[in-house]
Amino acid sequence: MKVFYDLHMHSCLSPCGADDMTPNNLVNMAALAGLQVIALSDHNTTKNVPAAVKVGREAGVLVVPAMELTTKEDIHVLCLLPDLDAAEAFRQYVYPRLPQRKNRPKAFGNQFVMDENDEIIEEETQLLNFGSSIGIYETGALLEDFGGLAVPAHIDRASYSLIGVMGNVDPALGFRVYETTIDCDREALMEKYGFQGGFISDSDAHDLIAIRDAERTLDVETMSPRGVIEAVRRLGETN
Ligand SMILES: [Zn+2]
Ligand SMILES: [Zn+2]
Repeated sequence: MKVFYDLHMHSCLSPCGADDMTPNNLVNMAALAGLQVIALSDHNTTKNVPAAVKVGREAGVLVVPAMELTTKEDIHVLCLLPDLDAAEAFRQYVYPRLPQRKNRPKAFGNQFVMDENDEIIEEETQLLNFGSSIGIYETGALLEDFGGLAVPAHIDRASYSLIGVMGNVDPALGFRVYETTIDCDREALMEKYGFQGGFISDSDAHDLIAIRDAERTLDVETMSPRGVIEAVRRLGETN
């Protein structure tokens, strides 16, 4: 079944995410845009995923637990996770590997953890927007351990991307699926850097107006986070 997807979005918990990217606002805006599957992928955390999943059930939008991990090389990797327990376990793995610095909201932005009613239940003190000590070469296998899938994020961007940082796509990294920005010329990118793979494209929305109308589809067999992860994984097998 083909479903409209956007697997890369930030909430008000990301320091760079708009304060009005609340669980209800972002899920309902996604529903209005015609999206059927979204992933909430805040920087180095998953604490707003439980609320978004609950809101998604009401709104008829499947919310896949996710995190946008910053590696020690400052590469962003979209990490898709199969359920809330895996998301929380992965978050607990990542937090001790972040620089132990407190957020300064005036400098970096608010980090609000919310419930399904958009009530603030915590202001995250751990600064979320700096790199972890997790290396890009270990990320693929690490996500497998958590039952998830690692997808290098927005690889066609100049900053915080696999190509932007490394200057190439090393097959030894083991990735089979890559994320690009929506308007990327994938053929040109593969030719320039000499690699093959499957692709997804996402909005990377940090505010409500950046959520794009539903245009891109994924062929999902089971409408569940696991089913979505399998669908993304399959994109890398046919290439
Ligand atoms: Zn990013
Ligand atoms: Zn992002």
